[in-house]
Amino acid sequence: MAESKGTLYLCATPIGNLEDLTPRALRMLREADIIAAEDTRHTRQLMTHFDLHGHLISYHEHNKEKQGPFLIERLLAGENIALVSDAGFPGIADPGELLVQQAIAENIAVVPVPGANAALSGLVASGLPSSTFFFGGFLPKSKKNRRLQLLEWKNVPGTVIFYEAPHRIKEVLQDILAAWGDRPIVLARELTKVHEDFFRGNVTEALEHLLEKEPRGEFVIILGAGEKQSEALPAGNPLDKVRMLMAQGIEKKESLVAVAKEYKIPKRELYNKLISEEKEEGEHK
Ligand code: SAM
Repeated sequence: MAESKGTLYLCATPIGNLEDLTPRALRMLREADIIAAEDTRHTRQLMTHFDLHGHLISYHEHNKEKQGPFLIERLLAGENIALVSDAGFPGIADPGELLVQQAIAENIAVVPVPGANAALSGLVASGLPSSTFFFGGFLPKSKKNRRLQLLEWKNVPGTVIFYEAPHRIKEVLQDILAAWGDRPIVLARELTKVHEDFFRGNVTEALEHLLEKEPRGEFVIILGAGEKQSEALPAGNPLDKVRMLMAQGIEKKESLVAVAKEYKIPKRELYNKLISEEKEEGEHK
């Protein structure tokens, strides 16, 4: 019997400039039985602009558990689905990843239809080394988890890319400065749009720039690698670092684990030092 399953097409859509929709993506959107969109309002605007009249269904972070099995059922029944994210390449920092995994588990063909992507657009124009890079997506929203995540990624040996919302960008840069120190940074803002701009400097300068000019629009944060990160051990007293993390509300145990990893010393050794210093401080009070 001939293969009757449908195909899941991952269609990149513009991140600002409508000319960035490729002719192939346009054809996929025109021909698909279903267009599964992260933000139906946004995609409807795209459809109106390109005179598309397909069957639009929402698929986003908050309905993916319910909609995923429904979309897989349609694919198994032979329908073709074009998945689009709010903007850019579906599957990069959006729920597309899960649907792709579910489709592969059912032996459904998954076909990328490439085009615009914010992370890569920012990286290639940043001027920072672009042959080795690490994409961190969105950092955790809670300050504590963000700092722990940053400590874990401190020694990534390449350029690092993050996505961030404008209202959180200053506090994220402050956390990056605290966890990684000053580094080269590029803030790529409003890519492909009329007000596209690139701030190039170091993290301290970027913070000053954002204090002068309230951040607006969409940002990609691109950070240069720290010097000789893979070998260099951090400077300063590890116990001070543990205390700093604890003062920021991170549990003693988590602080010890993070700092021991960063300084490449056994956790037990660090714990014993902390306890004996705490004892000494207690005696001197
Ligand atoms: N899947 C998309 C892609 O491949 O580009 C990214 C989706 S993610 C939910 C949205 C984030 O991408 C924004 O918060 C922002 O950090 C970044 N972004 C999207 N469009 C952008 C633009 N035009 N300029 C700068 N950053 C952008």
